[in-house]
Formats: sequence, C-alpha cells, structure tokens
Amino acid sequence: MSGGESLEFEIHPNPAPVSAVERAALLANPGFGRVFTDHMVTVRYAEGKGWYDARVEARAPIPMDPATAVLHYAQEIFEGLKAYRVDDGGVSMFRPDANARRFRDSARRMAMAELPEQVFVDSLGALIQVDREWVPDGPDGSLYLRPFMFASEVFLGVKPSAEYLYVVIASPVGPYFKGGAAAPVTVWISNDYTRAAPGGTGAAKCGGNYATSLAAQAEGMEHGCEQVVFLDAVERRYVDELGGMNIFFVFDDGTMVTPPLGTILPGITRDAVITLAREQGHEVREEPYSFDQWRADAASGRLREVFACGTAAVLTPIGTVRSTDGEFVIGDGSTGDVTVRLRQTLVDIQRGRAADTHGWVRRVL
Ligand SMILES: *Cc1c(COP(=O)(O)O)cnc(C)c1O
Repeated sequence: MSGGESLEFEIHPNPAPVSAVERAALLANPGFGRVFTDHMVTVRYAEGKGWYDARVEARAPIPMDPATAVLHYAQEIFEGLKAYRVDDGGVSMFRPDANARRFRDSARRMAMAELPEQVFVDSLGALIQVDREWVPDGPDGSLYLRPFMFASEVFLGVKPSAEYLYVVIASPVGPYFKGGAAAPVTVWISNDYTRAAPGGTGAAKCGGNYATSLAAQAEGMEHGCEQVVFLDAVERRYVDELGGMNIFFVFDDGTMVTPPLGTILPGITRDAVITLAREQGHEVREEPYSFDQWRADAASGRLREVFACGTAAVLTPIGTVRSTDGEFVIGDGSTGDVTVRLRQTLVDIQRGRAADTHGWVRRVL
C-alpha cells in the first residue's frame, strides 16, 4: 500500500447540528478538549479488503462489542495537530504531512494497518470543510484535530487485529494559557517511573504510553508540580522528555541541547524549533544530557533557559525543577528571551503572520 493512495469521503451531514447561537456561546470559552464539533471522520480497514467506507458523519458514540481487541490489548495510536483561522478568513494546518508520516510509523510499531498518508491528510481537510464554522476566530484560538485508530476486531486472541477503525474528531480550543503568555512551570523528576525503554514504544504515539505516565504525573502533582520529566530507563541518568512534550536547554553562550531521538517521541514542534533556532543563530545539539549536569549547570549559571514543547502548548518555560533530593531554579525562574522569541516565531508562521519559508503551512480553506 503506497503512501499516496487516496479515498473518496462520503459526506453525511449531521441532521441535528448545534445551533449558531449555541455554537457561538461554546466558542466564546471552549477551554481545552471539552467542546466538540458536529461531525467526525471514520474509515474502516479489514484484512484482505484494505481501507474502505471513508465518511464524514454526525459525531456519535461508537458501539463496541465487549470483546473488541483494543479494550484488552491496547492496540491504539493517535495524533494531535491544529487548524488555524488566518487573517483573510481561510483556514490552514501546520505540517499535517509530518503527522501523517508519524501516524504510519506509530502503526508499524504497534503492528497495525498503515493508513496511507494522503488519506490521513484528506480526512482532516474533509472534516474541516464540513465543520468550518467551528474554527475559532481571533488571534489565540484554534481547532484541535485528534486523529486516532484502534483494533476493532472482536476476538480475544493475542495477535495483531484483522480490523481497524480510524476516526478523526475535532475540538475548538482557546489559548492554552490564559492571556496567551506562558507562566513558567515546576517539573517533577520521576525516580520511580520511566516512560520508555530501548526497544519499547517510546517513539510511537500510542495511548499506552500515556496510561503508564499517569502514576508519575499524579506523583508530580502531589509534590506541587505541573509536569513530570522522565529519565532514561537504562541508567536513570539522562533526560528523556516530559509526559507529552519534548525538552530544550539553552546555555549562556547561545547554544542549545535537546535529547536525541530514540526512546523519545519525535515531536513536530521539536523538529520545527531545531530548524528555527538554527536560523536564529543558535547551535543546537541533539545529545544526551544528564540530570546531574542539569543541576550543576543551573547552579553555575551556565544554563539560562529550559523549555518544553508540543502542539498543544507550543513552548512552555520550565522555571523550577523538583526531585526527591530537593529543588533548583533555572535562571531567576522567569521566562527567558530565547524561549519567548522562538515561541513567537513559530506561532507567527503557524498563523500566517510570518513568511513560511519551509513549506510547513498547508492551506485547507
Ligand atoms: C505528541 C507528543 C509530543 C509532542 O509532539 P508534537 O508533534 O510536537 O505535538 C511530545 N512527547 C510525547 C510523549 C507526545 O506524545
């Protein structure tokens, strides 16, 4: 099956969509991940038949037999990206082709059928077309797109499922941070838990990785931290990433370090930040960085800024680092200039306010 294969999406409009008045009320303060559009995409796969029955239809519950494979063995993957309203009233997405490629990579790791990249990208366009009124106006809002796929065969045997259901839902979201400015967060260094071992599923965007991160997240919250930083599973020394964000370190000589790919999730924001930082004159190294070095560099003042990054929150400054050994602060604990500038550059490209010299922005409407 080639990456270029495409399908025709049948449109079945929702017979009872949310009224314009109610929609406006929902869009006024959508929060994150609680408000959903009127429609969803579904595409089915069966062994021997391939991908079929691509449709945009009314968003509705998905009936499931209790023996559906995903409920027992967790063959499930997902993606997350945003559609933005641009100044002329159109809508664009940021690097959907990169999400399509990563979705295939995740599927391969989980022994699932690989959705052709063209079908993935087309499915997003088809949903946005139908739910276009749900893309928030204004400088901060966006429509968060959540493609996902799960094992839908009804069978309790342990084997790759012979059937899959691919679904896309969409959720209008406001600014991730009130006022748009990200306040520095405090992170917890997890000693008891790791998220990904070599040979494991760390590089796949699968629900299972999130399930295993929640106990660590709860532990971090008990210690007053908003996020958890995981260390490598072998030596428990090197920084991997956060539960759902990659991490960057900025030094006093302008150089930057981010952990290398392998057990971490290859973030599209991470990739864009590396490119933009290099354009802004920073040398960026992808190399292991230990927690001991982190603490020493923070103490000496060599380390100036640390930030986490991902689609949902873009760039989030890390101000304080807490562990069972105590805590330390990065710089004076406030948001650094490099973090602010990179965030602004990226957001301006995503929203069509700055030149898209890398061909990252895909116009949908
Ligand atoms: C999705 C995700 C990220 C961020 O990836 P983006 O493509 O930048 O949104 C980072 N870490 C994990 C574990 C993730 O699941």
